Amino acid sequence: MKNSIILKKELQRIDGRGYKSYKDLQGEYDFKDYILSIDYVQGDPFASPSRLRIIINKNKAGFPEDLISEYYKKVAVSDFLTRLFYFNINKFSEKIFSSGKSGLIAISRCPQEILERTSIIINRDNIEARFYVGFPAKGRTVLARELEKILYNVIPSIVENTLIYKNINKAKVIDRVKLVQDQEYIRSEITKRGLIAFIANGSILPRESGVSQKPLKNALPFKSPKSLEVEINIPNRGLIKGMGIKKGVTLIVGGGYHGKSTLLNALELGVYNHVEGDGREFVITDNTAVKVRAEDGRSIKNTDISLFIDNLPNGKDTIRFTTENASGSTSQAANIVEAIESKSTVLLIDEDTSATNFMIRDDLMQRLVSKEKEPITPFIEIVRPLYSQKDISTILVIGSSGDYFDVADCVIQMDNYEAKDVTKEAKSLMRGEINKRIGGKNTKININFNRKLQKGTIESTYKGVKIKTMGLSNININNENIDLRAVEQIVDNEQLNAIGFIMKYIEDNMMGKDLSLEQAVTEAYKEIEINGLISIDTIKGGSGSMSLPRKQEIMAAYNRYRNLKINK
Ligand code: ADP
Ligand code: MG
Repeated sequence: MKNSIILKKELQRIDGRGYKSYKDLQGEYDFKDYILSIDYVQGDPFASPSRLRIIINKNKAGFPEDLISEYYKKVAVSDFLTRLFYFNINKFSEKIFSSGKSGLIAISRCPQEILERTSIIINRDNIEARFYVGFPAKGRTVLARELEKILYNVIPSIVENTLIYKNINKAKVIDRVKLVQDQEYIRSEITKRGLIAFIANGSILPRESGVSQKPLKNALPFKSPKSLEVEINIPNRGLIKGMGIKKGVTLIVGGGYHGKSTLLNALELGVYNHVEGDGREFVITDNTAVKVRAEDGRSIKNTDISLFIDNLPNGKDTIRFTTENASGSTSQAANIVEAIESKSTVLLIDEDTSATNFMIRDDLMQRLVSKEKEPITPFIEIVRPLYSQKDISTILVIGSSGDYFDVADCVIQMDNYEAKDVTKEAKSLMRGEINKRIGGKNTKININFNRKLQKGTIESTYKGVKIKTMGLSNININNENIDLRAVEQIVDNEQLNAIGFIMKYIEDNMMGKDLSLEQAVTEAYKEIEINGLISIDTIKGGSGSMSLPRKQEIMAAYNRYRNLKINK
């Protein structure tokens, strides 16, 4: 392997030459304490920055084995170190005034959620940091001296203060690991107790603003009603108390602006662990929970929505329902069926984002428009059988229809941001219309899930597969956009990168095996579990960092991809 002295000579050699001569630097260099690997060099100063890696021997890094011995610990430490690396970039890098992205150093910017990511990878023998550097240019020529400063001053300082255990704040990293341990403990504990969610007393649920996931200052902390309070004895903090939501059908009711959606939003993201100070550290939801909503305009391919919709006026097949432009109700039906197909056992629904005609039909309307003339069986008639026959629970925000009292196990009222258990009152007000209606029908939940993923979903052009992502809601594959605005449980842009790679991985490795979409995604997930998220990074040259999405979001992306090839 070449070493740092050779690299310095190379830098001097190419100084002032055309920008392309930076390409000569590609390769690995021994820096004594670590290896610097220049994996990919950008073509010009304005292109996406060059990709570099630091590989440091575990003994050198000195993290105690006990701190990184299990999957959840590795995730916690890797998350911690990514944030620290990010912080240290700002601390140690100097601004250079020159062309394009010159001199920019970047690593993944972590959201409030703690995810497995490829920015810092803890392997058996070493720790790897993946980051980006904009190779400095003056006009379109190499500014070698500036890159020399970055590689010989800035990066060594960052490494020294991020990847060497004795130099970092040990208490903080240990706390992070303990926090995740507590969160994982609650996760397993709620499952054991037949709960689908836990919200600790004292949690801060509202966020600072629509564009900031930081906690709202001066918010009213959450407090469980006594009747719903459960206690969990967690490993590092002892007894904690909070509201337990049981399996079944739970309603969140209350006046407008009283905190209903805020509670549901916190539950949506409770599928992930959160960092300390977030306020939702101990808001823990069943891992498989999916937020479903109406999403008109989306495409649907061969999805069986007949449970909700049949006898369409145009005679359209609803067992293999296909459209390029779904309506509010058909999209919400498909979203529910696809969530169940992705093995979700908890549905989260907010009336704010639902199609009214999908959610309810009241008695008067039922009398005026006979069943034969109405293709939609509203969710209110399905939510109960879904639980009793398929063990699928629902948490619903519903401020406007008391008919739902009939089908609820638990009714929580949000009153000035305070949760109250009003189940008894709600049940005493019940009119029983819906129960009569359901009782008469005896709905059998029978959904045909046998959709097989076909070859050609991800097509390789002569340039390979082009995957680009934007923000939290767009994946662009070969210029076809996947719109994920309605998939609300994506929290990190790098999850979208991962989804793109996983789709490509599946196309390359699993076609011809006659797998359903769910099986294919599960297989890819197994590979990730065994070899880490990085193992599915198969696109040479242009790959970005990744963070782990859930199976549910991967399937959601497939289902919204207009080039999806799927048969039934
Ligand atoms: P709803 O869905 O009942 O109409 P929201 O959940 O949208 O109400 O909440 C309305 C507003 O109240 C939001 O701006 C939210 O940030 C704020 N809010 C919610 N919960 C709290 C709380 N615990 N303390 C302070 N403000 C809150
Ligand atoms: Mg609301």
